Amino acid sequence: MIQTLREDPGDAEIDSHKLLVRAGLMKKVAGGLYTYLPLGMRSLNKIQRIIREEMDRAGAQEIVMPILQPAELWKTSGRWESMGPGMFRLKDRAAHDYALSPTAEEMVTDVVKSVVSSYRQLPLTVYQIQWKFRDEIRPRFGLMRSKEFLMKDAYSFDTSLEAADASYTAMYRAYRRVFERCGLKAYPVEADTGDIGGKFSHEFHVLADSGEDGIAFCDGCGYAANLEKAERRAAAAAAAAECGAPETIPTPGAKTIEQVSKFMGVPGSAFVKSLVYSADGTPVMVCLPGDRDVNEVKLRHFLGAKKVELADFDTVLRVTGANAGSVGPVRPTDSSLRIVADFDLKGASGCIVGANRDGYHTKNVDLARDAKIAVGDYADLAIARDGDACAKCGRPLAVKRGIEVGHVFKLGVKYTAAFNAVYKNGNLEDQVMAMGCYGIGVSRTMQAVIEQSHDKDGIIWPPSVAPFQVCVCLLDPSDDGAAKAAFDLEAALEAEGIDVIVDDRAERPGVKFKDADLIGFPVRVVVGAKGLAKGGVEVKRRRDDKTKTVISPAAEAVAAVKAALRPDGAEQLDFN
Ligand SMILES: [Zn+2]
Repeated sequence: MIQTLREDPGDAEIDSHKLLVRAGLMKKVAGGLYTYLPLGMRSLNKIQRIIREEMDRAGAQEIVMPILQPAELWKTSGRWESMGPGMFRLKDRAAHDYALSPTAEEMVTDVVKSVVSSYRQLPLTVYQIQWKFRDEIRPRFGLMRSKEFLMKDAYSFDTSLEAADASYTAMYRAYRRVFERCGLKAYPVEADTGDIGGKFSHEFHVLADSGEDGIAFCDGCGYAANLEKAERRAAAAAAAAECGAPETIPTPGAKTIEQVSKFMGVPGSAFVKSLVYSADGTPVMVCLPGDRDVNEVKLRHFLGAKKVELADFDTVLRVTGANAGSVGPVRPTDSSLRIVADFDLKGASGCIVGANRDGYHTKNVDLARDAKIAVGDYADLAIARDGDACAKCGRPLAVKRGIEVGHVFKLGVKYTAAFNAVYKNGNLEDQVMAMGCYGIGVSRTMQAVIEQSHDKDGIIWPPSVAPFQVCVCLLDPSDDGAAKAAFDLEAALEAEGIDVIVDDRAERPGVKFKDADLIGFPVRVVVGAKGLAKGGVEVKRRRDDKTKTVISPAAEAVAAVKAALRPDGAEQLDFN
């Protein structure tokens, strides 16, 4: 059941999505839903096997929990509401509410709570590999943003937050091994830790131009963080320019920085971008250089708020006197409005700001002199970008694109406290367990391998996760001698633990070679009557097209295939 396609699927935007479909690994059922075909299933199974081995080695124990989860569990943690429309919900015939599992912190906490009663049973880490669901508004990029995906989720339970560090570290190490064994270069990067703080949230990213996430790297000190988290140093303040008196001028119809900048003929960086946010319901004005964007995670932390979002139109008008696009830090209507600014604006003068009057801007603004920004309300509030100074060492950050394939996270007691998941300590006192959660996108990892390893002809599988490691292309299936040589070779390779597929279709050689390259078997062996007459078969390695003709097939061909399957770096093949 192998079907390859010559044409890219119409809805595929990135190479790995095109190749998954063209190489016959999966078939689209509907937006964000796929059937895994035999070749895709084999790779997916190999990735799962690697994950199981590494989880078991790290001391985690496998369980499996239902996909269909009662709403009561989600109500206990408060996430029945906060998960929002991204969670699939349904009712049974008795009108009881359920969710299709997007994750399983609630359910696993409920299970562990009922099993663990004493400190002697801790630490405990359990994991499952199970289908997960997310109601994506716009499914895209194949398995990257699908409605259903295979995930490995693990959860650790410890006696204390300090003890939980060891569980976290064990999983972090296991993840590095998993991705390495899958042939992936995945980088651990710091991610936002929410309320926990510290260095206990890492995402594992595969670098790819098509990645949806931005990651800041520092070559100087090795700092790596996703853009939600990435901290920067304030730019050196420019010498304060002489700045005349503020002057308000009409800027009719110009609402965005780009429009006003064009209208006034000055660069976007001369503007102060001002936005009104609602922080837990309280309006706050946020100012930053005109060519920067607000980092809402940093803003939320700085304000100590649970939730920040852009304020609604009415609020903006009420507190500033103007609509969004014409607001600024100089004399807003509400004189008690809190104003915070990105630290790059400290000492800024000669700026252009919204005049808090629709269709007007004010120029020659010296923030320290004219704006109502209290001292101390300058902070790192913007999204880091290429060339910003690393907060740790000051060297320039480089922003790259990444695909998140894993996430390790120290949760603290958020769920265990909500479920009253306690154990008895040595003094028989009840203590709340400390928890960590650890995810790997299994189906996403499969696609990330392809995104990282392909060329114009197709996929280049690392041998560890290839659907088959070797494809024996039998050129003349009707020739008994050639067929016997091909199947003998298959048996000899399988005896060595190498998985082999024999392409004995009645197709032209060119078609077979194209398919072998497209599907991306790490090694191709060509067996044909003509070659055998000369006494040999051709062994070709996919990743560099190196070929070797092997005389007297069986033993020598097996040795050549094994040499070709060695990982990168082991080039002592005498192979070509
Ligand atoms: Zn640095």
